[in-house]
Amino acid sequence: MFTVHRYQIFPTIPPELAPLVTIAQNLWWTWTPAARELYGRVDAELYERVAHNPILLLKLASQRRLDELARDDGYLRALSAVERSLGDYLDRSTWFDRKYGKNAASRGTMAYFSMEFGIHECLPVYSGGLGVLAGDHLKSASDLGLPLVGVGIAFSQGYFRQSLDIEGWQNERYPPNDWHDLPVSPVNDEKGRRVVTSVELPARAGAGRREVKLQAWRAQVGRVPLYLLDADIPENPPEDRALTNTLYGGDRAHRICQEVLLGVGGVRLLSAIGQEPRVCHMNEGHSAFLALERVRQLMGRTGAPFVAASEAAAAGHVFTTHTPVPAGNDAFAHDLALPYLKVLGEGLGLGAEEAMRLGRVEPDRPGSEFSMPVLAIRMADRYNGVSMLHGREARAMWSVLWPGLPVDEVPIGSVTNGVHVPTWLDGELALLYASYLGADFLERAAEPGVWAKIAEIPDEVLWAAHGRRKERLVKQIRARLAAISAQKGRAEDPARIERLLDPKALTIGFARRFATYKRGTLLLRDAARLARILHEPHRPVQLVFSGKAHPQDWGGKELIRDIVRAGMAEPFRGRIVFVEDYDMGVARTLVAGVDVWLNTPRRPLEASGTSGMKAGLNGVLNASILDGWWPEGYAGDNGFSIGRGEEYADTGHGDHVEAQALYRLLEEDIVPLYYERDASGLPRSWIARMKRSITTIGPAFNTTRMVREYAERYYEPALARHRRLTEDGLLAARAACEWKARVRAAWGSVRVDSVAQLGPSRLPSGEPLRVAAEIHLGALSPSDVVVELYYGRPGPNGSLRGAEAAPMRHAADLGGGRHRFEGEIPTDESGEHAFGVRVIPAHESLPDRYAARLVRWH
Ligand SMILES: *Cc1c(COP(=O)(O)O)cnc(C)c1O
Repeated sequence: MFTVHRYQIFPTIPPELAPLVTIAQNLWWTWTPAARELYGRVDAELYERVAHNPILLLKLASQRRLDELARDDGYLRALSAVERSLGDYLDRSTWFDRKYGKNAASRGTMAYFSMEFGIHECLPVYSGGLGVLAGDHLKSASDLGLPLVGVGIAFSQGYFRQSLDIEGWQNERYPPNDWHDLPVSPVNDEKGRRVVTSVELPARAGAGRREVKLQAWRAQVGRVPLYLLDADIPENPPEDRALTNTLYGGDRAHRICQEVLLGVGGVRLLSAIGQEPRVCHMNEGHSAFLALERVRQLMGRTGAPFVAASEAAAAGHVFTTHTPVPAGNDAFAHDLALPYLKVLGEGLGLGAEEAMRLGRVEPDRPGSEFSMPVLAIRMADRYNGVSMLHGREARAMWSVLWPGLPVDEVPIGSVTNGVHVPTWLDGELALLYASYLGADFLERAAEPGVWAKIAEIPDEVLWAAHGRRKERLVKQIRARLAAISAQKGRAEDPARIERLLDPKALTIGFARRFATYKRGTLLLRDAARLARILHEPHRPVQLVFSGKAHPQDWGGKELIRDIVRAGMAEPFRGRIVFVEDYDMGVARTLVAGVDVWLNTPRRPLEASGTSGMKAGLNGVLNASILDGWWPEGYAGDNGFSIGRGEEYADTGHGDHVEAQALYRLLEEDIVPLYYERDASGLPRSWIARMKRSITTIGPAFNTTRMVREYAERYYEPALARHRRLTEDGLLAARAACEWKARVRAAWGSVRVDSVAQLGPSRLPSGEPLRVAAEIHLGALSPSDVVVELYYGRPGPNGSLRGAEAAPMRHAADLGGGRHRFEGEIPTDESGEHAFGVRVIPAHESLPDRYAARLVRWH
């Protein structure tokens, strides 16, 4: 016996192949098929094994293979073409330059903060949709030329990798990320030294505080840098080095520490490298502590008190919420949060209780929990949900923060999510589309007209391309299954693997997080009926599932086990397949390689959902509950809807009804349509729907459109207001605060004394209704307020439907703080109408008319 000493020899990269290394350092390669292909060609099998990580690939490739490629003229030509197109990409003029001018960036830059970023499977610092959206946001910001940087965390273990045991039970593995083997570079100063910043946290024992040091890694996403914070450095004790270990792992204390590191540490890192963004975008509430750090910096710089500095800082904060249920919101129990807010408050001249008030739904309820979205809403001027439906839900959920305001006037807007088309559109389809839509169609993806020519692609050409996607999917699933079985030491019978899935059968895909509300097993409720659907003679149907459950979500894990088990036995063997360890790579093959993309959330719990958008632009038809983005996406002929947007108070009943609707949809519409072939064997009606899917979903649900919307509707106004409020030692912010304080002090005596209809109460249509009101403003003057008529159709509980507001004019000063206002309501429709009168504080520097959060009704 002898001891085996292992050692590794790294190959020397031949100089001809040097560009492979530089290209790998810009994650632009991840959404550029020609670049991805270069790495695949080095060693396809190895490339799979290293999860498409080009740095590791080049470390582990064989010297012989590299030398061979260095002499391969075809390869070298392809390499230099890709190198040139990266150069062209970085140099070309952008939408942002054209719209705002070459020097637009000098007016202010933006930073996008997110707990997770899904750029590519080789950089595992994401768990699901939230992270993928953040990654797609950066990619489109790069395409569009926005002066934006990303800020996140360099998790040393990332999110878990899933492996299923023999029973189908999910186990988690946390392979370490070696940051030196990832396509990132250390953030150094000009002298080449690591930039290190620090954040204060409460001491682990007793009173006082401790300091955690942070270094950072830079991932280059096209033009946009993404900075990832890392506490795993020798300067920190082991407990603190572990703070950036796993994404959404650990207990609540671990989580609040991570959130302080992200928010406070992120802003400090940017300062340390000379970046002072005007606008900080919080992707979910996890990063909301950034607002407190920005206020602290502003106070230090200007000597302004907390209120004025937060008025000014809020101008530069944008908050996007993704959570449609209160329970899903990120909140910390009072006792847990208090020491953290004490430390944060010290920097702001606030006591711990005062700081706690910022995150409480009801500030005056001591002992109540500290909510990150509440903090974000209080410290930002602009907020939005991620689909029209979700905007509505978010307004209802947070209307508690705008007391007295009708829900539909709560100033939370919506920007519907999208996906980054170059990332999610299959490479071969991208070439096919380009030959009809024009070579530049990806740059013009947000123009509806650009996609119209999809209709001109011959049916047989599109169908053949789609068939190849399906074959590739089946091949990859078989290979993956064989590889995973081998890894686990359970050799699968090769004949059984070869029988797995039929590339010609109607294939339904379902892949997403296994959260219970997404109802991954809705289709399995009636096994006998499902079996009949899957086994109908000459019309085979098969199901492909994938997705992870949160490590603590036992319900979610049971769903996975149920699916795996179903697929192990008759009647579903070979017809229901579960693909282990869902990630962005698996997602890319799935969203292009199935026929139908199934989505079955309990409405209204899916804020948006994005995997269906990825599927839709690859010509895969969505079959979805009308939740999230689908009410905006569904056009009748571009996919299928399950139900009509009903919502059920009794979830058990809702699940039953919607499962029935889904079976019927499959039996009566989806399966017959798919197998309805003409003489040439083509499903013409199906293909027509595929084309409608591409032409309707392509232009609307991409991140080019989405990021432009953020730029135009959120970032630009925020930049302008932030600039104005921070000028001259926060002059305008201080004035706005003084005004607010004066209005608040006087508000108690503001009331509507009387309202009178001038003229008859029955009016001929077309004749406006005239109204006069006497208002007691006390110490306020008419210019401090707007008085409005709020009118519409009478609804339940004294509410108004379809209400609108019309300003009243100041008609007379009646003395003693009393004023007469008059106004008119247009009456163009007959029937019953109703109105109310209200007073709202108004000041030219407010970001929106309800920013003072005061309203007085009659
Ligand atoms: C797109 C994507 C998601 C989001 O899917 P939903 O439909 O929003 O649930 C999650 N995980 C991965 C890996 C993705 O690529």
